[in-house]
Amino acid sequence: MTESNYKGHLISRRSFIKSSAIAAAATGLTVTGCASSPEGKTATTVKKKITSDKPNILIITCDQLSFDAISANGNSDVRTPGMDRIFNSGTSFDNTYCQFPLCSPSRASFWTGRLPHQTRVMANDAKMIHNRTVTIGSLFSEAGYETKHFGKTHDFGSLRGFDVARDNIEHKADAPEAFPEHYQSKRDRVTLELATRYLQQEHETPFLLAVEFYNPHNINNWIGAFKDRFDNMPDMGNLPALRANHNNKDMVNRPNAIKHACCTTTRQRQAAHWSEQNFRQYLKAYYYYTEMADDCVGKVLDALEQSDAADNTLIIFMSDHGDGMGSHNLVAKSHFFYDETTRVPFVMSGPGIAKGKNVTSLTGLCDLLPTLCEYVGIQYPENIYGRSLQPLLNDTQEPKDWRKSIVSQWYSMEGHSIQPARMIRTRNFKYTHFIEDNGEELYDMINDSGETRNLVSDPVYKETLASMRKTFADYLDDTGDDYLSMHAIPGENTRNHNIGYSSHPK
Ligand code: ZN
Repeated sequence: MTESNYKGHLISRRSFIKSSAIAAAATGLTVTGCASSPEGKTATTVKKKITSDKPNILIITCDQLSFDAISANGNSDVRTPGMDRIFNSGTSFDNTYCQFPLCSPSRASFWTGRLPHQTRVMANDAKMIHNRTVTIGSLFSEAGYETKHFGKTHDFGSLRGFDVARDNIEHKADAPEAFPEHYQSKRDRVTLELATRYLQQEHETPFLLAVEFYNPHNINNWIGAFKDRFDNMPDMGNLPALRANHNNKDMVNRPNAIKHACCTTTRQRQAAHWSEQNFRQYLKAYYYYTEMADDCVGKVLDALEQSDAADNTLIIFMSDHGDGMGSHNLVAKSHFFYDETTRVPFVMSGPGIAKGKNVTSLTGLCDLLPTLCEYVGIQYPENIYGRSLQPLLNDTQEPKDWRKSIVSQWYSMEGHSIQPARMIRTRNFKYTHFIEDNGEELYDMINDSGETRNLVSDPVYKETLASMRKTFADYLDDTGDDYLSMHAIPGENTRNHNIGYSSHPK
């Protein structure tokens, strides 16, 4: 169905010329189109000549990195000089949301430009995507790019078209007792080494290189290592303050799915009895693993800068989803859509991209595919949810036809607990819906960006609620999302304690 509707999106002449001009400016070559050469070279040679005028693309991703956990975004408890270099030299899309705050569904979504219910990857133990679904890797490899992938995959087929290194080799190192290393940190060292080596090579054809780091995802295993602890943690030095929205004083107004998040997710259950001190230690560890990732990011940038590709490479930096950061007493990620877990960094830097610009329009990781395609002049399917960010890069004002809302989804982590939910973010409000008990949340994102007051029952916001419900219904219709036919299965022995995670039975 979606595949048979594929028509190919025709790049407008204006934007194609713009893309070509960017590439030409970067290589110092003149784009002359497809005229046959006087020497009568073969079609293959002509194709190679044309494709070699294209810019390279370097996609660097982190895993579980929140927008707020980066020093360039105002967090003074963490130091991320590597990531900050990309923010300072490029354009940041400050309101980028992931389409599912979980690794595999988010990745399958951004590699295809489609929503998770369309890729069918709605948990970390999903089916493979349809083998005809167009992916970034398939489009770029067919266009003559060398498509190379190092690092975390979790793709369920969405990395089709990439030459993927799936060896999962680990390099160990001595780790402090307070910050134990799981496989993620060990594999990141290998990913850095492979990416650096690749960038040092000479490249005859343009490349699309994806370098995907696990960290700060190692924080999940930190929670497991220190579960239920109170005062017997190792020394961690100075601890950061809790975030302003750490205490959830509004718990009584939240949907059952939030009141009992401890019953639904393993990591939340492990942190259910933590003290405030433990949450500060958690934040410290989260920043520690973020800084490990940042060190890798900085070294990849160094390798690029020392290579021949330095002046002709577009850099994208992003994360697949965020982390609870202890806000609302929540850790890791699951079926909750607070900004800490759903709002992610998305920055572009390179030829033709404005420096130090911040775009506040509503954007999503799903926009990656059409944006990259338009940047280099590759056709892409027109029926995908993602949209090219090119108009936001070029124009000083948001185009009138830009999207008015963006969605994020949840179904399950690994099947044992099913909690279908959706989030709709508009410029001013965030609305969430849970199948369980028809639970709803409504937040004023302008006056309460910490999402501390659920306004669903507030009569003052009656019209806003009606409007957001309409936006949500329109979204379901427009995208063919059969969400309302799904069923929640919260799991066994749950919802049987007083609200508040610390009430969860030990
Ligand atoms: Zn519980």
